[in-house]
Amino acid sequence: MRALAVATAIAVAATGAGPIGVTPAQAQRAAGAMPIIRDTEIEQLLRDYAQPILKAAGLAKQNVKVVVLNDRTFNAFVMDGRHIFINAGALFDAKTPDEVIGVFAHETGHLAGGHLLKLREQLATAQTASVIALLLGVGAAVGGSRMGAGGGDIGAAAIMAPQSAIQRSLLAYVRTQEDQADHAGVKFLNATGQSPRGMLELFKRLSSESLFNSRYIDPYMQTHPMPAERVASLEVLAKASPYFDRKDSAELQARHDLMRAKLSGFLERPDTVARRYPLGDHSLAARYARAISAYRHSDLRQAVAQIDGLIQAQPSDPYFYELKGQALLEGGRANEAVAPLRQAVQLSHGAPLIQIMLGQALIGSNNPKFAEEAVVLLRNALMREPEAPEAYTQLAMAYGRKGDLAQADLASAQAAFGRGDMMTARQLATRAKTRLPVGSPAWVQADDIVNLKPNSNARN
Ligand SMILES: [Zn+2]
Repeated sequence: MRALAVATAIAVAATGAGPIGVTPAQAQRAAGAMPIIRDTEIEQLLRDYAQPILKAAGLAKQNVKVVVLNDRTFNAFVMDGRHIFINAGALFDAKTPDEVIGVFAHETGHLAGGHLLKLREQLATAQTASVIALLLGVGAAVGGSRMGAGGGDIGAAAIMAPQSAIQRSLLAYVRTQEDQADHAGVKFLNATGQSPRGMLELFKRLSSESLFNSRYIDPYMQTHPMPAERVASLEVLAKASPYFDRKDSAELQARHDLMRAKLSGFLERPDTVARRYPLGDHSLAARYARAISAYRHSDLRQAVAQIDGLIQAQPSDPYFYELKGQALLEGGRANEAVAPLRQAVQLSHGAPLIQIMLGQALIGSNNPKFAEEAVVLLRNALMREPEAPEAYTQLAMAYGRKGDLAQADLASAQAAFGRGDMMTARQLATRAKTRLPVGSPAWVQADDIVNLKPNSNARN
């Protein structure tokens, strides 16, 4: 698992979609600082949660992606038609799969209802930026002032916005959309034979938390107003479902537990992890959380021994090998990381994020024999993960090892471009062009970077 401070891919996508009523500069600043978590295991599980719902909603072909934000508050939202955002805090808060699936069902209800577009139309007459920001929750949801991620001023403005007539009428409109999304969500759950119980219980819990804890309200409550009558009508709807008492499968629950353990191990302080997963807890999830915490905060040797125990318990789980490789790689033992990462790539059927990590280990091992293998791996991974700037950095190093300076320059230019450093990107691409055969595919790629205009959204 890796937490990225800046994810330009989403920033560009979000800006392109134009979060309603927010200036592009504000949006870019807010979205550009989105702290994103990339992890094959978690993304695969969330895809398995979301895919049946999206299919039931007729959105299977739209390639909607779930993006996990590194934020401990509870939040989930849609900002364009292509991403469902969910905070790590929400995943951690949800003890069962059906709660997360319920959140996805609701957000998919917004997508299927075309709510973003309709809201945009409603807002065409509204002038007050703060009102718009409040409704969208862009400030609250994306600004993440608690994360210090920038853009918090939008949220602050939203909170201080005066109660005006227009705001009230728009809020009423948003509530209608919330009811519609609940209805649609339950419909999708029914269509997939899943229980709406998790969705109901989660919303009940959030609703009562906001009643008793006005000091701190999760961003989700700001973007998804949850008055008692909404919860009451959801309850009627949910309990009418023939699947209300259906439980998540044991297999799904086990994967869910591992996801929460992983988030805890990576994101929480060691003492918190130790409290949540005490030594007496011998479950796989608890051992996973403790092993991750050990590698992050204490002894590598001890951590590797714990991870080996996990591998022994579940030898076909690619993510235990991935963890072992990551621990060794980050512990300065790239050479030893290669073997477990090879296993992880194989068992995950070539997951691109794991391929990128293996590429990094191959290069870090300083073995010239590995350079060509790293090039092939990284290029393969980048075809499926084109927005991974760190993979371009690794690719540049691999080409450097091979003495292919033209390709190294091009990859470095792509890495700089991914980081948003356009000046460096253009300089390196210009140099790459002088070393590449005119008109070759690599030359064309370099030329594209040279000719990009500042602040261009051309990538999406
Ligand atoms: Zn909603």
